[in-house]
Amino acid sequence: MKEHTKIMILKERTKSVTYRVLESLNYRMRLTAEEKTNYENQVKGFAGEIQFDSYMAQAKISGLVLNDLILSHRDTSFQIDSLLITNDSVYLYEVKNYAGSYFYKEESLFTESGYQILNPLRQIDRSVTYLQNVMLRIGYTLPIHPVIIFINPDFILYSFLPNKLFLFSNQLPKHFNALSNQKKLIKNEHLELANKLKKLHNENYRPDNLPTYHFDQLKKGIICPICFSTSHIDTRQNYVCSICGHKEIITSVIERSIIEFKDLFPDKPIMTNLIYQWCGEVYSKERIRMILKKNYQNHLSGQKTYYSDKQLS
Ligand SMILES: [Zn+2]
Repeated sequence: MKEHTKIMILKERTKSVTYRVLESLNYRMRLTAEEKTNYENQVKGFAGEIQFDSYMAQAKISGLVLNDLILSHRDTSFQIDSLLITNDSVYLYEVKNYAGSYFYKEESLFTESGYQILNPLRQIDRSVTYLQNVMLRIGYTLPIHPVIIFINPDFILYSFLPNKLFLFSNQLPKHFNALSNQKKLIKNEHLELANKLKKLHNENYRPDNLPTYHFDQLKKGIICPICFSTSHIDTRQNYVCSICGHKEIITSVIERSIIEFKDLFPDKPIMTNLIYQWCGEVYSKERIRMILKKNYQNHLSGQKTYYSDKQLS
């Protein structure tokens, strides 16, 4: 039988809802200093996770990977950056993209100026406990190994790390290499576990610390996905960014603007007129209506038609 020394990604990494909302708001309203910092942290965090993924992709492990998993236990939701299920264990990775100099004491990281940034051990302990409970609930008891990764090569730590849970980016190849030596095939029950966890992923999760904003207050128009400019010159079928030249079919531009609208306003009914305004009143209502009809379920409420996600039967 052919050996499966390959990573199988069952759930791809995507930007979190916080990242997507802050990214959109950053170009549509004035963020407070705190919100701006939060946005920059989202950008850095995601870039770090992508870097981690590239290390993982090079590893010759037979394993199943679930990225950005949001699970709930009782009333609490918790997020896992990366989960690797091997033949006999579950590895829970927490990726930190810190740069600069830090001290470690009393289980917390401090910047040089003595400002405490976080207690990574408490955070990951909590995730392990929650994950253990979720797995138990669906009938699995595999051992869970938590790993905290400092992915940025410019991260400097001026103190001894007492814990094996921590890994620096240059230790990752060795870590994955050790795992690849256990060349055992994935059991069917583990594939089942992975699929069950994927099903439990909470797609509609929204943290409660998102900024407050209203439709009327936001700048309307299409945002270029490359340079975030809102100015564009279009041909009949294509959108062309005036700043970077990014070219895209207008249908796709409208489709992604609807998705952006849904990310920002999950409770607002989707209506042709709203999307028409949202896109900057440059595409005809007829064109927008056609796209809504094609991709969404339409409902009639009094005189108004609104759209929602199609129910998968
Ligand atoms: Zn552009």
